[in-house]
Amino acid sequence: MGAHVLIVEDEEKLARFIELELQHEGYEVSKAFDGRTGLTMACDGDFDLILLDIMLPGLNGLEVLRRLQQDHPTPTILLTARDAVMDKVSGLDAGAVDYITKPFAIEELLARVRVALKLHGKQAATGGMTAPSDEGLLRWGKLILDEKKVEVTFDGHLISLTNREFQMLRFLLKNQDIVLSRDTLLEEVCGYDYIGETNVIDVYIRYLRSKIDDAFDVKMIQTVRGVGYVIKSDPA
Ligand code: CA
Repeated sequence: MGAHVLIVEDEEKLARFIELELQHEGYEVSKAFDGRTGLTMACDGDFDLILLDIMLPGLNGLEVLRRLQQDHPTPTILLTARDAVMDKVSGLDAGAVDYITKPFAIEELLARVRVALKLHGKQAATGGMTAPSDEGLLRWGKLILDEKKVEVTFDGHLISLTNREFQMLRFLLKNQDIVLSRDTLLEEVCGYDYIGETNVIDVYIRYLRSKIDDAFDVKMIQTVRGVGYVIKSDPA
């Protein structure tokens, strides 16, 4: 059986949509439509991951998260409104492992769910409907990023990346030949209107370069002075 995910979301159509997508990926799913029910279910159940909306009737998501962290800590991804910067910061302070900004692409949510379960969960999804194929594989030279397994290899060697490094590499690989600004990378990788310095992106780039470029003697990530970063599809 796949990992058990609890969705706490008062927009019932959205909750149902996420449920179907997760079930399709092989997860077991439960739903709650308000904060109080969500908290009770989360504390009574044994969930591998919780998707928690912040704006909820009754008890809001941040309050649910705080109580949950005290009584029954469970990896949680917050679903947040686009410009609720303080909510996101408070959410991470309160112990959320990640957040995703509404409206989101379902593929983005599924990718984050996989990463969160891989890094924080007891078990990843098993089974599911995916046939062995190239689906979810991003390639650059001898480097392969496997979105399903949340795994990066270079010429067969496993590269150990953090959650953020993985998201950043994935986004760069998906947008090969497009120069991505630090702001764009921040928005996509860190997921919120970052209030600190954008040089956090340079820090992640440095880590990626030391783990990939330096380790395997390639030049994958190019700096475009004054603009940002790009991975060129033609390594030459
Ligand atoms: Ca809501």
